Amino acid sequence: KRIIVIGAGILGASTAYHLSKKGAQVTLIDRQDPGQATDAAAGIVCPWLSQRRNKVWYRLVKSGAKYYPQLIKELEASGETETGYKRVGAISLHNDDKKLDKMIERAVKRRGDAPEIGDIRKLTAAETKERFPLLAEDFASVYVSGAARVDGRALRHALIRAAEKNGADFRSGDAKILLSNGCAAGVKIGQETIEADSVIVTAGVWAKELFSEVGIDFQVSSQKAQILHLQAPQADTSHWPVVMPPGSQYLLGFPEGKVVAGATHEDEAGFDCRVTAGGMHEVLSKAIESAPGIHDCTVVETRVGFRPFTPGFLPVFGAVPGLDGAFTANGLGASGLTAGPYLGSELAKLVMGEETELDPADYRVADAIG
Ligand code: FAD
Repeated sequence: KRIIVIGAGILGASTAYHLSKKGAQVTLIDRQDPGQATDAAAGIVCPWLSQRRNKVWYRLVKSGAKYYPQLIKELEASGETETGYKRVGAISLHNDDKKLDKMIERAVKRRGDAPEIGDIRKLTAAETKERFPLLAEDFASVYVSGAARVDGRALRHALIRAAEKNGADFRSGDAKILLSNGCAAGVKIGQETIEADSVIVTAGVWAKELFSEVGIDFQVSSQKAQILHLQAPQADTSHWPVVMPPGSQYLLGFPEGKVVAGATHEDEAGFDCRVTAGGMHEVLSKAIESAPGIHDCTVVETRVGFRPFTPGFLPVFGAVPGLDGAFTANGLGASGLTAGPYLGSELAKLVMGEETELDPADYRVADAIG
């Protein structure tokens, strides 16, 4: 089977990798747009403490977190050891003890069918600061041992390289869907035409434009996020847990002193990929409020990414109604590094006619088409 995947963020890279493992003849095409979400992402894999109640969404992110160790092992076996994935645990901060108890209650309940959550423990303020020394003195926390961090850029590269080892062809370019008798019959890249049995669109926030060219009103919206990479002086950050302060900001440690602080949530910014003074002010002031040690860190790099959201903040995957031969997945929003590798594997199964674990009827592509 000849299959083309348009867009190689985490979702397209994973889809192509899983298809290549199944023996499909895969061409993966990417335009490396500035603002690719995967490249900017923070890397938190910890879906279980979320207060969101949507069960369909939770099933996806929970399965995504559970799938990681198996995938990483498989990639390592094929020689891809640079994935940036590590189970470092997460600490969720609060200075209200009752809130921490509620969090523990929720996590323990969820552990019933998600043993991968691991240990759940309340940490004193001193224990909390010991684990992430840049933090203020006054936060107790809930610690969850099964949480992980992952470097989206590194994992994406590992998946693409592993797919190439399985025979996939990775191309840079701007792809357009090629129509034949109203069906998706392949793609055009500049003057070149490549035919295929199926075309998969995993183009993140840019899928709207790609589908509009074939008359489909695909409703994916973009939320801009600015994020900051810092260097902590003389600290062994490689085992530091993910930190989730109250609110929507977070901090992560990566090897060699790297600390990541994020991120903004800008719904009205469109495709503006500038790093703004206001964005950096917001990220830094919130980070320093919970972690005064950030004050003395070196600013190393800023990144900007566009989180793709489909209606109802619910991801979609499946065949594209009204366009035979086309499949898509999108809308991974703020949890796409968590869900993306797994959803890519599900999408690969679907396209190959295999049974999926997730029911595509719960993630209807039709709901994202106007
Ligand atoms: P993208 O990564 O945006 O990839 C889409 C790709 O398609 C791009 O490379 C683009 O160039 C390509 N493309 C588009 N159109 C075409 C075309 N016509 N031809 C060729 N190529 C095309 N998730 C978590 O789970 N944990 C986190 O901690 C986390 N933190 C985040 C922090 C930030 C700052 C951001 C921005 C996101 C974060 N996310 C996180 C969310 C996650 O990054 C996204 O949900 C996920 O990366 C989306 O992946 P994607 O493959 O759908 O899209």
